[in-house]
Amino acid sequence: LLTADGVPGTTIFAEMSALAASTGAINLGQGFPDTDGPQEVLRAAQDAIAAGVNQYPPGRGTQVLREAVARHQARWYGLRVDPETEVLVTAGATEALAAVLLAFVDEGDEVLTLEPAYDAYGAVIALAGGVHRTVPVDWPAFRPDPDRLRDAITDRTRVILLNTPHNPTGAVLDEALLRVVVEAAERHDALIVTDEVYEHLLFDGARHVPVAALPGAWDRTISISSGGKTFSTTGWKIGWLTGPAELVSAALAVKQFLTFVNGAPFQPAIAAGLDLPDEVFASIAGTLQTGRDTLVSGLEAAGFPVSVPRAGYFVIVDGAPLGFPDGAELCRSLPTLAGVVGVPVSAFCRDEQAARMRSLVRFAFCKSPGVLAEASTRLATLA
Ligand code: PMP
Ligand code: GLN
Repeated sequence: LLTADGVPGTTIFAEMSALAASTGAINLGQGFPDTDGPQEVLRAAQDAIAAGVNQYPPGRGTQVLREAVARHQARWYGLRVDPETEVLVTAGATEALAAVLLAFVDEGDEVLTLEPAYDAYGAVIALAGGVHRTVPVDWPAFRPDPDRLRDAITDRTRVILLNTPHNPTGAVLDEALLRVVVEAAERHDALIVTDEVYEHLLFDGARHVPVAALPGAWDRTISISSGGKTFSTTGWKIGWLTGPAELVSAALAVKQFLTFVNGAPFQPAIAAGLDLPDEVFASIAGTLQTGRDTLVSGLEAAGFPVSVPRAGYFVIVDGAPLGFPDGAELCRSLPTLAGVVGVPVSAFCRDEQAARMRSLVRFAFCKSPGVLAEASTRLATLA
């Protein structure tokens, strides 16, 4: 995790946000919304602070949030989760991932992910001493081949780490594919960890299938999500994991020495968000879908081939047909060329897959309509 000079390497997101700040370019690199989430959620945090909810909350998380998470799993997925023993609140999905992998992965254990993969996965697998195996997914659909996925799961696989909806591709894994994973996990006695932070940000009628709800999955599955994405509060860092009590306890054993507990006043506020009516969730996704459409049109008008995402914050384009075979290079010059910042997809890949994804660039559309329209106008100058 250190560079050759012994200093911490910066993440691609920090690097690209700094580039946006120094050049004044529109930052479509790091995925964070430029508009705050529902008023009810914001107000609930202010009320909690005013009411004196400012000291250490319980280690497993504030009861109202654990209960709201349990209600959420029942309402959306029909999952019955015990808020006392089967829910753990974490510092965003990031800490949930770290706690789970540090709890279950020993030196030399294999962890399987798709590739490209969210950048924290490889880093935390390395911290745990695990071996990172991947199954590549390809432009433009980014759907894993079920046989390849099945074959990659062996007796050496300790954890299958899924991410659906998927960052950076916007792919939504379908039930048939997830069933293949559950069957292989049972056969090889592997754990399944699913990162579902984009579970509510679905477009075009796409359906999120929570792995834990599939037959045979619950006993070996930990599901991870976060309030940051759904409620546009990425800076609050309130996430959670759910699963069988023994698995949650093992994650808690690690979590207590990572952060001990998390932001007291933000927990009842995210609980208030989780209890909002279905229409609010639909409206959040609808707004984002409009943003996606604006940016996709802009990118297409600029001449980029686009992989249209079915969920999440991001869209991927291919720079090669426009004469940009190297996405990292394009991202470095794009602030000057067009006043826009993106992130190279190769940053989510290693060697071989990075080479295959070399010309791809990810742009975030979790931005206000005016910003996306202006970005589209600027990108059109590339055509
Ligand atoms: N997993 C994925 C796939 C993500 O995209 C992100 C955030 N961008 C995270 C985890 C981290 O979530 P949090 O901010 O809640 O830690
Ligand atoms: N998850 C967001 C992204 O993929 C931000 C991540 C970060 O800044 N670590 O861009």
